[in-house]
Amino acid sequence: MEVGDVGEPGGPGPGQVLIAPEAVGLCGSDFHYFLGDIGTIEDASTLYPRIQGHEAAGTVLEVGEDCPGLETGMRVALWPVSACGHCYACRIGRGNACSNLSLIGVHADGALQEQLLLPAAQAFPVGDQDPALAALIEPVSIAMRAAVRGRVAEGEHVVVLGAGPIGQALALVVTDLGASVLLVDTVESRLARGGAMGADVLQVSPEESLVAAAREWAGPDGPQVVFEATGVPALVQTAIELVAQAGRVVVVGLSAEHAPVRVGDLPFREIDLLGTSCCGSGEFADAVELVGRRRDAAAGLVTHEFALEQAPEAIAYAIANPAEVMKAVVRVDSP
Ligand SMILES: [Zn+2]
Ligand SMILES: [Zn+2]
Repeated sequence: MEVGDVGEPGGPGPGQVLIAPEAVGLCGSDFHYFLGDIGTIEDASTLYPRIQGHEAAGTVLEVGEDCPGLETGMRVALWPVSACGHCYACRIGRGNACSNLSLIGVHADGALQEQLLLPAAQAFPVGDQDPALAALIEPVSIAMRAAVRGRVAEGEHVVVLGAGPIGQALALVVTDLGASVLLVDTVESRLARGGAMGADVLQVSPEESLVAAAREWAGPDGPQVVFEATGVPALVQTAIELVAQAGRVVVVGLSAEHAPVRVGDLPFREIDLLGTSCCGSGEFADAVELVGRRRDAAAGLVTHEFALEQAPEAIAYAIANPAEVMKAVVRVDSP
């Protein structure tokens, strides 16, 4: 990764806004992308070089025609998703899983730069929210989508495997829905933040019986929903063993690896094994609202800030220090 000069994007056309990115969160998918390990994305070689940055907040510099609700000077969060509108997933209203999905920062240049042209539909006003906090809206929106996929309901018991940023965001979203959450990880410092999200926590060493301990927490039926948010392939089978009969397992973590599952568990125990991707616009709007309302809890997730010139060190530091870094944010707006 290097910092360099690129041309200015020019003024916005109809339906476009020009944004000055202020804060950009770095996430696990950025690390995969940077390391060249993006596994399930087809023909990854066509994606480089790329300006990364898909978890972002910025200020509107200029507004094109036909951009209702957007004005110069507004702070916005970026919804990175754009969909083709005609594939099967789009036709059934799930453009977030579009066959021709384009994500800012992955398929198109992202927010780790001083100016970015954006379709107006991808800019969500966030009021006076702090930019670093507004950059958390995107990972929270991933959790929002995952909770929709898992059909989390009030009063249910939900286990979240992995206390990284997405696991923490899941704890925030799921407790907000009125369900009880057990956040599971091997790293104590990560779990310590979970309490602020309203979660119970369980520290396990890899040898320990996670299934027995988490089922004891959930009561005799076991948890109705289990989220796999580590990306450790073997934990998909663990989640299947852990979940209640007729429960839902939602796979959130990314990995290019294969993992065996005991196939009979799915029909015999009638378990829903579900994937979840990025979110739709309605879920992104819900994430804007939630982060605004729970800003005290969410603010604790931002542990490190770096200037734009330090972006290469920021990504290297975050990759090398996973126990210490919860969410590293690049402040594009810092001098
Ligand atoms: Zn992300
Ligand atoms: Zn599509």
